[in-house]
This record gives sequence, structure tokens and C-alpha cells, in this order.
Amino acid sequence: MEFMTNFNSQAPAFTGLFRFNEPLADHTTFKVGGPADLWIRPEGAGFPAYAAALLEAAGKGGIPVFILGGGANLVVSDRGIRGIVLDTTGYAGVEDESEGVSEGEGLLRFRAGTTVDRALEEAAARSCSGLEFLAGMPGSIGGALWMNARCYDREIADVITGVRLLEGGRILTMTQDKKDYGYKKSPFQGRSLVILGGVFSVTKKDPAFIREEMESRRKDREKKGHYRFPSAGSAFKNNREFGKPTGKIIDELGLRGLSRGDAQIAPWHGNLIINRGRARAGDIRALLDEVQERVHTALGFTLEPEIIFTGEGF
Ligand SMILES: Cc1cc2nc3c(=O)[nH]c(=O)nc-3n(C[C@H](O)[C@H](O)[C@H](O)COP(=O)(O)OP(=O)(O)OC[C@H]3O[C@@H](n4cnc5c(N)ncnc54)[C@H](O)[C@@H]3O)c2cc1C
Repeated sequence: MEFMTNFNSQAPAFTGLFRFNEPLADHTTFKVGGPADLWIRPEGAGFPAYAAALLEAAGKGGIPVFILGGGANLVVSDRGIRGIVLDTTGYAGVEDESEGVSEGEGLLRFRAGTTVDRALEEAAARSCSGLEFLAGMPGSIGGALWMNARCYDREIADVITGVRLLEGGRILTMTQDKKDYGYKKSPFQGRSLVILGGVFSVTKKDPAFIREEMESRRKDREKKGHYRFPSAGSAFKNNREFGKPTGKIIDELGLRGLSRGDAQIAPWHGNLIINRGRARAGDIRALLDEVQERVHTALGFTLEPEIIFTGEGF
């Protein structure tokens, strides 16, 4: 369900950063990617109005705009992104109008550019529980909503009650409807919009319990080798019809350690592609294609990439 609110799209004075020919390797967790023609990161409360004006002007000029969160699920091509990259990470923090969080339960409102880890720290500081399962997951709240990020058998759609969007020059508030989400699917995909923020349902709990939960997730990720090398998390989606997790399928075909240039299937996990240092986006693409082909030849399954490839040439 969507509600529209009045919105004055007049752009405020620009606060933030922008650069021409900005290397996107500096803005992705894989540490690969060529330049954006223009990278722009508006900062602070003026973000929605600024983004609206930018999108309107770019639309009139036929200039493409790519929306960037934490860059944790992306492989940007070596040639980079033509047009504008609108970086959302300058629009971060808890909204003042978060409600009821001092009582038994309530709603916490995070701006889209807030990193997941910062959001969790802000929640813990208010003794708010419910989001701990996401601890240690790289990326922003906006990216997690767009991806319907999931881990430990839970997904972001389980804890969200509303999302604020910028679409068609207007700000919309979309109330959560679980049926609009699926495995790695959200109602935001395939639309031209900017997620501005999310409203999360939380309950009041002992901060020591919350921190313990968060710490145990972070340690588990560390133990699984998530942070040993640059990556974008799982390379492929899981598919129940294939009978086992994708990592196991790749392991059983003996593909761990396979490499193209400095891109490699992690020697400790079949569904993780890592950048051993100087990988190019093209190496990652070639490696992923090869794994896909070898699995298809051996088993007849087509693995679906979870990583998003974007930019000129992809
Ligand atoms: C070590 C590691 C572990 C990971 N573990 C997990 C895991 O357990 N579970 C999981 O689901 N993922 C995991 N990931 C992948 C990644 O963390 C998530 O997909 C994350 O939600 C991506 O968020 P982001 O802000 O980085 O999005 P980005 O990578 O920047 O963007 C992803 C997509 O979302 C769009 N987007 C981003 N922000 C907005 C916005 N505000 N408005 C509109 N569109 C937007 C982008 O255009 C793009 O299409 C992992 C990644 C790494 C590196």
C-alpha cells in the first residue's frame, strides 16, 4: 500500500561531496570498478529534496542515474558507470521521530544511507532489539531493503513496517506487506526510485543481551571468513530445487580455489568469490560465468548470480 505526501521538490543548497571520474573501486566492498562520470554524495537532511531535483534534471537531460548504497553487493565494470552515481551514504542516522522506543516496544526510523552496523549500534544504545540477526552484514539500510537482505533464516522484510521512497518526484510512504517480498526480492526492484528510509519494529530488551547477540553474529561471520578478503558476499543465490546449498554444489564439483586473475573461489567456501588483491571486474565476471557453466554441464542446473553486475560493458 502506498501513501503520497506533499513534497516541495525545490533543491536546497548542495551540501556534500561530488567528484568527476571517481573510481568506484573505492566505493565497493569488492574493491573493483572503473570511474563514475559524476559521483555525488549529498549529505544531511536536504538529501530527499536534492535527490529529487537531481533526478528530475537528469531525467530531462537523458542522463542515467545509478543509486549506490554501501556497494556491498556490486561488481562495477572496469569501464565504470556512465552518467551519475548518486551515493546515499551521506543520508544517515536515526530519524528524530522514532516512536515509543523508551517504552516496551516501538518503531525506529533509519535513513537509507545508515550502515547496517551503525543502525544496530543505534538500536542497542536505545535497548531496542529485533535487528541483531543482521549484525556484521556490510552495506546500508537502503541496500538491505532493496535486496531484502537475509541471514540466519530471517530477512529484512520480517522486521520492517514501512519504507519511505522517492519516486516520480514525490515522497511515498509504503507500509510493509510481507507478500510483496520474496527470497532476495523486494517491491523496489525494477523501479526507478530511491529508498529514503525504513521504519523498523523493535522491542525493549536488556542491552547486554542485545550486544551479546550482535557479537555472536559478528564472530560467526568472522569465523566463516567473510572479511578475510574483499568480496560481495554470496556469489550465487540458493535454490531449494537444487537439493542443497549452492556452496555445497560448488564444493562437491571441486571448484574451491579456482581462479581467474586475482579473482578466486574462496578456498574455504564454494559460494564466495574473493579479490586476492588486484582482481578486475572482468576476472570476477569470467570466474562466475565459468562456475555457472561447469555446474550446468555437470548437473543441468543454472545457478543465478546474487551479486549485481553493473556499469559499461556488463
Ligand atoms: C562479507 C559480506 C557478507 C555479506 N553477507 C550477506 C548476508 O548474510 N545476507 C545478504 O543478504 N547479503 C549479504 N551480503 C551482501 C550485501 O551486504 C547486501 O546485499 C547488502 O544489503 C547490500 O547493501 P548495499 O547498501 O551495499 O547495497 P549496494 O550494493 O550499494 O546496492 C545493491 C542494490 O541496491 C540498490 N540500492 C542501494 N541503496 C538504494 C537506495 N537507497 N535506494 C534505491 N536503491 C538502492 C542499488 O542500486 C543496487 O541495485 C554480504 C556482503 C559482504 C561483502
